[in-house]
Amino acid sequence: MSLILDLFYPVTCYGCGQKGEYLCSRCRSTLPLIGLHHQRIISLYPYSSFIKYLLVDLKYHFVTDLVFQLAQTISQDLIKYFPNLVDYWQQNHFVLTSIPLHFLKQNWRGFNQSSLISQELAKLLKLDYQELIIRHQFTSPQANLKDPSARRANMSSVFAIKPPLSRGGPEGGGVLTNLIIFDDVYTTGATLNSAISIFPKNSEIYGLTLAA
Ligand SMILES: [Zn+2]
Repeated sequence: MSLILDLFYPVTCYGCGQKGEYLCSRCRSTLPLIGLHHQRIISLYPYSSFIKYLLVDLKYHFVTDLVFQLAQTISQDLIKYFPNLVDYWQQNHFVLTSIPLHFLKQNWRGFNQSSLISQELAKLLKLDYQELIIRHQFTSPQANLKDPSARRANMSSVFAIKPPLSRGGPEGGGVLTNLIIFDDVYTTGATLNSAISIFPKNSEIYGLTLAA
């Protein structure tokens, strides 16, 4: 399959156009890093970099190699720039999870790129990965809600914790207090903060995004 695709779409680097890899080693090592902003939210790369094109392509064409190379790049940069944080996550058994897509988008695309990237990333960082968050499918359009508190309730109910029995992963549930929530792009932070807010107050939660 990949050989046939290669004939029509030769693999080239998103940074420099060189053939062979989606992210060549030179471009990987020169990707500008944003690093930590806000207290526990890490956004790695500026959206204005070539990462933008890579993410757009990933949304419309599922490319296994691209997911893997992205996860490798993220893992390398986390270990390089935040070695203490990665150690801390490993020693305290942090579980990586991702923001689910709306089911209509998921069906249309057939996959959730945040979930795929973070599953690969979890393997590389030797962390567990579990699908912990569900997205409610029927929220009223905000415009129909005149009352501000109804608007807030509508937004805050977008996400919920997945019931323990339907969770994947080795633990199949249990009390989860150490989490890293992955989302591909950080825009206003509303999505990530809304997902963080569904977990118990004593949880220690980091947000991790690829681009901001
Ligand atoms: Zn390159």
